Amino acid sequence: MEIAIIGHDGKKSELIQFLIKNRAILDTSDIKLIATGTTGGKAEEAGFKVKKMLSGPLGGDAQIAGRVGEGKTNMVLFFKDPLSSHPHEADINMLIRVCDVHNVPLATNGATAQLLLNAIAQQS
Ligand code: PGA
Repeated sequence: MEIAIIGHDGKKSELIQFLIKNRAILDTSDIKLIATGTTGGKAEEAGFKVKKMLSGPLGGDAQIAGRVGEGKTNMVLFFKDPLSSHPHEADINMLIRVCDVHNVPLATNGATAQLLLNAIAQQS
């Protein structure tokens, strides 16, 4: 399954810590990670194999939304920062909407992301 990871600047370190904590689940061969550009670069630095899209403000969230719509991305872990404003708010809302349209699991904070990964771990 393909899992998209996105972290706003104020949440990137929390997301990377989350990835490291869940490395055993994420390193299984049937999980592929994709990410917005800067998030993906940081995940690579932490040792994860990630397919990188454009940076979020340059269209990366929109690219991921497209993959959700096409059925290529099966889960989105979006560490959103609710305390800062974003120039690409329209793209962020579009991604959330497309997940809802296609009934694709979407976490917008770390607690929910952990519950989703726990569910995957139990299935495998
Ligand atoms: P980034 O994008 O990973 O390229 O910083 C995240 C976002 O702001 O949507």
